[in-house]
Parts: sequence; structure tokens; C-alpha cells
Amino acid sequence: MTTVAHDSPQNLDRATLYVVATPIGNLSDISARAIETLSRAGHIAAEDTRVTQRLLDHYGISARLIAVHEHNEQRAAGEILALLATGASVALVSDAGTPGISDPGARLVAAAHAAGYRVCPLPGANAAAAAVSASGFLSPHFLFYGFLPARASARREALSALAAQPHTLVFYEAPHRVAECVVDLAATMGGGRRVLVARELTKLFEETHVCALSDAPEWLAANAHRTKGEFVLVVEGADATAPDEAALDNTLAVLLEELPLKQAVALAVKITGGSRNDLYQRALAKKGE
Ligand code: SAM
Repeated sequence: MTTVAHDSPQNLDRATLYVVATPIGNLSDISARAIETLSRAGHIAAEDTRVTQRLLDHYGISARLIAVHEHNEQRAAGEILALLATGASVALVSDAGTPGISDPGARLVAAAHAAGYRVCPLPGANAAAAAVSASGFLSPHFLFYGFLPARASARREALSALAAQPHTLVFYEAPHRVAECVVDLAATMGGGRRVLVARELTKLFEETHVCALSDAPEWLAANAHRTKGEFVLVVEGADATAPDEAALDNTLAVLLEELPLKQAVALAVKITGGSRNDLYQRALAKKGE
């Protein structure tokens, strides 16, 4: 691997906007280069200056902080472009993880490109990438969706539009909505698909749990802590489960012709390895047909 360092550790390049990833929980998840860059940039554009000040205090870094959040990004971009025009280098950070990914930053970056300044990303923590890496889902592609709409009807509409996607799907979700979100995921995508619930990544109470979508509500409800903290939901793509869905339905149909519902479900679980809840719901639906 060839290493090309534009900037030496002692000197940052002039008139450059550095986009710096910061930890998503565990403060050790910051690169040496990020610390170096934050230390040497005279100015740091931060989503919430109080949050970033705590991070800087942790590393003993002092710098001038400029607030750049979703409500003032356009205006603050003007101030930052003026700094870049003097030859200064500016580091951009968000509260956690990678700026511009479900976080402010894109407008400022676009303004820097438009004005002809160099934009230099410093890669690091990102909750979506961390969750995908812990999923074990085999699709080589994933679609990062980020936050779904908060309103239930809009959320279901968005999920229905994604249901046929063959790629692994990645969602960010707020703790007070995660339970209803997994119910909607199962309803729109089929309960048989697997989901990774990634909670509090890199933090003390981190959990990564893989189960069928239909089993996820029960798993979340089993412990009050499981609906607290920060969540990423990673859902298997449609292709991965399409053949299984058909196989599940066929198996159930045959068994239901010969056996009472409970026995048919129990046997179908053994034969297909599918989720008991999902097969039970399917069997009920078939009986009702
Ligand atoms: N820019 C960030 C990144 O690179 O991941 C994301 C910021 S977004 C405002 C915050 C959301 O990211 C949370 O609501 C949660 O869905 C997800 N997230 C951030 N940190 C997380 C963590 N430690 N564990 C699980 N999810 C996390």
C-alpha cells in the first residue's frame, strides 16, 4: 500500500477544509491524524461547540470553535470561506462520527468545493459502517438510508418503497421509535428477513443482535434497556430471502393440509429453521385465506 500524505504532521496544508471523523462513543476511536489535525487547525467548525469542547478538553487541544449546525450552515459557510481565503486551514467535525453522514457538513463542503478550496477527508468512526461490519450479511452491497420519517404512515411508505431492494439496508433510528420501526420493517419487508440490531456501538452497553425481523420486537421488549441508547438497524436485502419466503409458504401449505395449526408451525420451524413467530403469523394468514 502506498501512503501519500498531503500534509506533514507539523504543518497542515494551507486553505484546506479538513473533514474530520470523531468517535461515536469510545473516545479511543479517533485516529492519530485526526488528533494532529484538530491540534494544528486554528479553527474548528463544530455542530455543537459544547460537545466538541469536551472532546478537545479530553485530548488537551485548544482551538477556536465556530458553530456550524443545520440552522446556520449556509451563513457559517460564509465565515469559513473567508478564513480559507486568508490561507487558514479549518477542521470540520460533527457531534459524533463522520460529518455529512446524517449530520451537518455537506453544505459547507459544497461551498468549499464551489469556491475552489481543497477538501480533505479524515476517515474514522461511522455507526453505519460499524454496524454493517458486525452484521455478517453476505450481500456485497448496502444501501445507507439513515433516518426514516418519524410519522408512522410516512415511515411505512418509505419502507414499502425499499422492500424489493436486493441490497442490505441500513437505518438509523431514535430509541423511542425503534420498537415501532422493527414492527413496520417486518410488516413491509416480511418477518423472515434477518435484522441486525446494533445498539450503543463502541460504548459500555453495546449489543449486536441478529434475528428474524418478526422476532425483533420480542427481543427489544425482553429488557427495558434495549429501547434506550443509539441504534442502527441493518436489514437483509430482498434477494437474500426471496427463495426462503417461497419455501416457507410452500412447506406451511403442505403441513397445514395434514395437521392442526400448532403442529404444522412446530414442524415447519424444524424443517425450515425459520422464525416461530413468523411461521405462526403466516399460518394464521393461510388459515384465514
Ligand atoms: N455522523 C454519524 C455517523 O457517522 O455515524 C451519525 C450521526 S446521526 C445524527 C446519529 C445516529 O447515528 C443515532 O441516532 C444512531 O442511529 C446512529 N449512531 C450514532 N452513534 C451510534 C452508536 N454508538 N451506536 C449505534 N448507533 C449510533
